[in-house]
Amino acid sequence: MTIGFIGLGNMGGPMARNLLKAGYDVTVHDTRQEAAAGHVSQGATWADSAAACAAAASDVLITMLPGPRQVEAVMGQVTLPPGATWIDMSTSAPETARRFQVPKLDAPVSGMARGAQAGTLQIFVGGPAELYQRHRPILEAMGDPERIFHVGPEGAGYTVKLMINLLWFTHLVASTEVLTMGVKAGVDLETLRTSLVASPAASTFLERDVLGVLREGDYDDSFAMALACKDLGLAVDVGRDVGVPVELSALVEQIYRRGRARYGDLAGEMSPMRLYEELAGVELRTGGAR
Ligand code: NAD
Repeated sequence: MTIGFIGLGNMGGPMARNLLKAGYDVTVHDTRQEAAAGHVSQGATWADSAAACAAAASDVLITMLPGPRQVEAVMGQVTLPPGATWIDMSTSAPETARRFQVPKLDAPVSGMARGAQAGTLQIFVGGPAELYQRHRPILEAMGDPERIFHVGPEGAGYTVKLMINLLWFTHLVASTEVLTMGVKAGVDLETLRTSLVASPAASTFLERDVLGVLREGDYDDSFAMALACKDLGLAVDVGRDVGVPVELSALVEQIYRRGRARYGDLAGEMSPMRLYEELAGVELRTGGAR
């Protein structure tokens, strides 16, 4: 049984390594051949093209690409062997996947690059229940078995993932406004944060995720602003497609776009916090762990 794996970036790189560790026979491809060096030394086979990678994928072809544009470019070039399944783990759009009439699951992930490395990703799977059951062991090699969910028919995985990211980015913007305001009004930053965490306004963002910025000035460049803006654009598109007004989401998207224009495509996903820090003339830093 051979798995083809295309897209060996911050996420796909360690995910493919975990498949190798679990004993799967893996053929890999990426436009950057150097991204595969570690995999090949771990026993993976290198394929020179996406088509060659897919042709070798007797059981499953996994894609972990930036977004719909790259998914479309890759899947437009490949033919899957008979009986093989395509599992797209990219954060992408249902209508892109729909163009390719092959057995498929959409299975985007949460958990950041460190979850990909640790093999503890959360995975949200859309598609037929039978395909999900059949391929669950492969997903378990990359994710936390307790947090791999079959969330509905084709496309549901993408939708759940986009809603998660939209809410997290919204938390980031709202929390940053609050922290910046409170500090400017004279409250100690760590006192304000711990008070919020102990209140009904608590969130995982305030409790955990914000600490990288507050303690180390780390805006998390393992998830690039270009990808964050792609996710927000796709999430707002969902609102448009289903006819739901999403004023707040559209505003968060614009704030992210401003951050991307200011700090660049490769800046970390938490860079919008820098916009507020600059505007207000405060650095949101608490120093070391408390
Ligand atoms: P990345 O940019 O680090 O990796 C993408 C990889 O795809 C790169 O190695 C690139 O060379 C390769 N690639 C691009 N176009 C290609 C093509 N046409 N053919 C072959 N290879 C190609 O991105 P990432 O951070 O690994 O994210 C991958 C996906 O996972 C995205 O959809 C992202 O939104 C999602 N995601 C990322 C994170 C994170 O924390 N980084 C978390 C959850 C989900």
